[in-house]
Parts: sequence; structure tokens; C-alpha cells
Amino acid sequence: MHKSDILIIGSGIAGLSFALHIAKERPDLSICILAKADKAESNTRYAQGGIAVVLNKLTDSFQQHIDDTLKAGGGLCNKSVVEMVVKKAPERLKELIEWGVEFDKKENGKFSAGLEGGHSQARILHHQDTTGLEIEKKLLLYSRQFPNVKIFQHHFALDLITDTNHSVCYGATVLNQKDHTIDIFTSRVTILATGGSGQVYKTTTNPTVSTGDGVAMAYRANVAIENMQFIQFHPTAFYQKGQSPSFLISEAVRGFGATLVNKKGQRFLFDYDTRGELATRDIISEAIYTELKKSGEEHVFMDCRHLDLTNFKTHFPNIYSYCLKVGIDISNDWIPVAPAAHYQCGGIAVNKKAQTSIPNLYACGECSCSGLHGSNRLASNSLLEAVVFANEAGLHVLQTIDTFEQPTNFEIESVREQTVDSKRINEIKNEIQTLMIQKAGIVKIQTNLQEARQRLIKIENIIFSEFKGNAPHTDLWELKNLLAVAKLIVSQSLQYITKKETLTKHNKQLYHSL
Ligand SMILES: Cc1cc2nc3c(=O)[nH]c(=O)nc-3n(C[C@H](O)[C@H](O)[C@H](O)COP(=O)(O)OP(=O)(O)OC[C@H]3O[C@@H](n4cnc5c(N)ncnc54)[C@H](O)[C@@H]3O)c2cc1C
Repeated sequence: MHKSDILIIGSGIAGLSFALHIAKERPDLSICILAKADKAESNTRYAQGGIAVVLNKLTDSFQQHIDDTLKAGGGLCNKSVVEMVVKKAPERLKELIEWGVEFDKKENGKFSAGLEGGHSQARILHHQDTTGLEIEKKLLLYSRQFPNVKIFQHHFALDLITDTNHSVCYGATVLNQKDHTIDIFTSRVTILATGGSGQVYKTTTNPTVSTGDGVAMAYRANVAIENMQFIQFHPTAFYQKGQSPSFLISEAVRGFGATLVNKKGQRFLFDYDTRGELATRDIISEAIYTELKKSGEEHVFMDCRHLDLTNFKTHFPNIYSYCLKVGIDISNDWIPVAPAAHYQCGGIAVNKKAQTSIPNLYACGECSCSGLHGSNRLASNSLLEAVVFANEAGLHVLQTIDTFEQPTNFEIESVREQTVDSKRINEIKNEIQTLMIQKAGIVKIQTNLQEARQRLIKIENIIFSEFKGNAPHTDLWELKNLLAVAKLIVSQSLQYITKKETLTKHNKQLYHSL
């Protein structure tokens, strides 16, 4: 059994920045971070565009960033959370820089800020087009300065340990993927920072680790989960048939002037929104979806041929070289692009201190639902949300940790990981992913969702009967987690549609009675 004061599940931007806050202030507290793969593997490391921060008060303002976020979120954001996150952004940026993260600057020494869809001003700070990799690397490096932070790579958290009423969290059961043993990690405070769930869908920009484990674990522990119906599809994932995850062509490329065209070379986005290529992701993804339905094609194209090539290579060296590697010379060729599942806007419900419905269980980053994003996240607000909420959680934990006791010894049966039929698990996973893209993807309609719900129940029975009694195994657990998340997406989508219909009916009645 491992004991620590603080157990953090996840080593992306949310988990690491939370750890650094505590480690600096309280060297006496032991902090244990779990990562289910290599410690750097996460959604964070693939983030390209950057982090949204208002810095230039002459051309921009907090209010504009707040308004952009609220507008992107379709009226469903929590306004006071939006205000908090936007206003705290400069402080958190300063801290990231103190921790070693470098952001691109112009020749005059000022930060180079990019423009992205849904933003009324250029306010995206970036490190070329590999901002996430820079953040992940530097936070991992900085964390090595703190002897009280210990990272356990290849340690897969299976389930939270709570009391029978789910009112206290004592830590988690964990599978050591190297020696195949299962152990208990106890803690006074536990943080879920497990990232997203893009792998629920057949086409996604998310790496294979993003299987929604945190949401599934929390759900099994009776913790409140919200807004899972709002899965954001990124409109411009590089289209390669059968390739998953898909390589992302950042939002910032459209901010830089790239256009989207159909196979006849016609731009079509202005038919859907006056902002054209700079509309928000939900609008562009739905527009592409509609165009593809009409044409029967599988992708549209991004045209970068008119852009300054030298400048493009300076800003987007990673995207430029990826395209070249797969035979696309962006100065001559169009890039094939299509929407792919990208970001989980909902998740584990948290308050402004990142507390879940269990007081000593926190959640931050993509696995959480803070109220910032509403129905659609504004580009580059996600890294920002993670650092702001990690800091808020850190402050709260520093105030309260001494009131939480270390749980007393637990006994667990000695269980080892058991081999599974991974081919069969893959088949079932494939079925869930295909079902979700077809029936609960960009456009969600009631009949499709009902069909998905029926099929998911059948799949659940299949898993239960085929793997009954099987000891935990990473592949099997991820499959169970994907299924749980898929069911949440479908059921919360159905509830949302019904609620919307009731509201519309109610509004109509109100209107008629006026
Ligand atoms: C291609 C791409 C580009 C993006 N670009 C941007 C951008 O430009 N700007 C922006 O703001 N956002 C961007 N995003 C979104 C952003 O990167 C993520 O939302 C953010 O990095 C999530 O951080 P996180 O710390 O919450 O989770 P992650 O970075 O995903 O980290 C999750 C961690 O949890 C661990 N974990 C998961 N399950 C378990 C388990 N069962 N046991 C143990 N450990 C577990 C993983 O190993 C990992 O360490 C992008 C995302 C992608 C995929």
C-alpha cells in the first residue's frame, strides 16, 4: 500500500500545475502523481495553437475575452466562472513563464499573439505550433526540483476508494502496468486530472490514453457528472482514411488566413456564418458535416497556397513538416480535412475551487466540468482553464488539507492483472467508436441516440458475459470506461434534447399567453 498526502491522477497540465503549487508551499506534504502511460503522454503534449490571455489592454480587454467565451458557449457558460478564468489568466501565464515555459516573441520583445476562431482579438500565446509539448516538457522538468513530488508512470488508476455513502475519498486502486500487480494508493486528498475522452469516437485528435477514465471512475463512485452531451468536434483534423488519432491542423492556421474549400475549390463557410473561417468550431464542424452529407465526399480541403510560406514555416513548422512528410506541399496542394472528436466540454462537476461532490476529491482540466465552456469551448481556453482551476484547487487544498486525516490501513485481496483476449476487446471498442460517430457525433438527433442507447446496453451485456470474473487489465478497464462514457454522452444528450423541447414548448405557451 502506498500512502501520500495528495494523490494526483494525471500528469498533463492540470495535474502537474496543481502539484507544483502545493509542492512549493508545503515541502512537508508528500505528493504522488499517477500516469497511465509514459509521464509525458497526454492531450497536453499535442496542444498546438496555444493559450488565450488578454495582455494588450490597448487593443483588447477582459470583457472582450469574456464575451467571446460566452458567445462560443451558446449561452450555457457559467458567467462568474468565465469572468474568474479570464481575469486570472495573466497571473497564471506569468507563473508558467516562471516555471520555465517559453512563448514566442516578436522582434520588439513583445509576445506574438495569434488569432483563432471565435476570438475577436489576437490573444493566443504560443510556442510555434507545439505549445503543449513545451508546457508538458517544462512542467515535468520543473517538478524534478521538488523531492516531495513522485511520479509513478505506467500506473493505471482503476477505481476510487470511497466510504459506502460516497462522502469521503480515500485514494484509488491502481494497476502497475509493468509488474502487473494491483495496489492501493491512499491519500488525504485526491485529484482527478485524467484529461479527455476523444477515444470514445472512431475519429479523434486525442491520443490513445484519452479514454475518459476519470469521468468513468467518478461516475462509479456516484460523483456528479454534467454536460457530457457537449463533445466538441474540431473542424480541421487532417483526413487520412483509417488513421486514428488524426493529426490536427490548428485553428491558428485559419486565424493566419487559410480558407476552407470544397472539391470544386469553392469557399462555403460564409453560407453558414458571417465570420466565415473565423466562426467557432461547432459552427464550422456542422457546416462541413452538412456539405459532406450533400456531396457524399469524406472531407473538404484547407487552402494555404496564398499564404506567405516563410512566415507559415516560422509559425507552424510542425504542421508544415507533417504535411510534407505525407506528400502535401502546402504551397501547391490543398490539405484534406474533416471534423474529428476533440474536446470534452462537460465532465466531473466542480465548483470554483475544483471540488467535486465529494469534499476531499477534486477534479481539474479536461475531465472536469467547471462551467467555463458551456456547449462549445472557445479555442485555446482549455489550457487556460486547467492552470486556473489547478491553482484554485491548490489554494483550497492548502487551506483545508490539515483537516483531512490519512486513511487507516486497507486490506485488499492479492490480485494480479490477468491476460485478456485483446483482439476481442479491440473489436468491441471499434464497435463502440463507430456507433458513437454514426449515432452520437456532430449532429445529435433523438432517434439515432435512442438506437445508440439500445446498442450500448447490448454491448454492456456482451462485455459482462464474455469477461465476467476477469481480473483487471488495462485494455479491459479502458473498454469499460469507454462504454461508461459513451452511455453518459448518449443519456445526457437525450435528457438535453427533451429539456430543450420542453423549454421551447413552454416558451411558445408563454408567448401565446402574452
Ligand atoms: C491535438 C490537440 C490540440 C490541442 N490544442 C489546444 C490548444 O492549442 N489550446 C488549448 O487550450 N487546448 C488545446 N487542446 C486541448 C488541451 O490540450 C487539453 O484539454 C488539455 O491539455 C488537457 O489537460 P489535462 O491535464 O486535463 O489532461 P491531459 O493532458 O490529457 O493529461 C491526462 C493525464 O491523465 C493520465 N491518466 C488518464 N487516465 C488515467 C488513469 N486511469 N490512471 C492513471 N493516469 C491516467 C494520463 O496518463 C495523462 O497523464 C488540444 C488537444 C489536442 C488533442
